[in-house]
Amino acid sequence: MEKLVILGCGSALPASGRHPTAQVIEHNGKYFLIDCGEGTQSRLRENSLSFDKITHIFISHLHGDHYLGLPGLISSMQLLGRTRELNIYGPPGLWEILSLQFRLSNSQISFELKFHAVEEERCLLDTERITVRSIQLNHRIKCFGFLLQEKEKPRRINGEAVKNAGVPHFFMENLRRGEDFINEKGEQIPNFQLTKNSKKSHTYAFCSDNRIKKDFHKKLEGVTVLYHESTFLHNELERAKRTFHTTAQEAAELALEVNPDLLILSHYSARYHDVRPLLEEAKILFPKVILAEEKLVVNFSKIY
Ligand SMILES: [Zn+2]
Repeated sequence: MEKLVILGCGSALPASGRHPTAQVIEHNGKYFLIDCGEGTQSRLRENSLSFDKITHIFISHLHGDHYLGLPGLISSMQLLGRTRELNIYGPPGLWEILSLQFRLSNSQISFELKFHAVEEERCLLDTERITVRSIQLNHRIKCFGFLLQEKEKPRRINGEAVKNAGVPHFFMENLRRGEDFINEKGEQIPNFQLTKNSKKSHTYAFCSDNRIKKDFHKKLEGVTVLYHESTFLHNELERAKRTFHTTAQEAAELALEVNPDLLILSHYSARYHDVRPLLEEAKILFPKVILAEEKLVVNFSKIY
């Protein structure tokens, strides 16, 4: 994963300057779009993110602020003459909504649109570099978060050392995999003398609308970047319980159990014009926290 770009960090009702949930994870030169609130395609344009590079879309649940931008985005992809396959993961009802929209607008989708229903916790995607799993959240309607886990990265070649040891070019891949090198004299040179440690592999958890249950942190073991909603301040706890949401303090309590390198708060209620008090509330318990905001870019290589 190279970076995370926040396109929207608001909640159900419109708030000045904030947009409903949507974000892009750049991975291996392609984009994973997670949630697609109203107006997401305009946000993609504003952030100069190409529609065509979006290969996978993950939708957490069917509250409008998490998916209403999807019919428009697909329609634009069609108008732009997309040919690349698009994979969408979401609740089964999402396919009913999209199919109805395509049928009544007489749209013939020109590219391959693969829909994958998410009804349980499972592995959704498994590639050479990453896995994506769904994790059940606790909300008013069925809702899933997503866990994106990078696989162990290859070791990095130490240019100086391989030159001195006379390692032939064809052997570099073996070194990246951790093998030792045997030179012409039959001497074995251990891998660690020829390579540097691989870059850190990150695990990113996207937890949208969620009333945190007691053992929820167990699902987030090993998470390095935790994105969690914090719709309210803790003085609105009763409202948070009623609406199946989380307070900033509770998000920080969760982070204390998970201990990620970074906690990102988001999904703020429209009642807060200034969201800094949410940050202050969380910071008391968990200092490694930032606020999601429109156009925020988080580079995974710069998080420690
Ligand atoms: Zn919701």
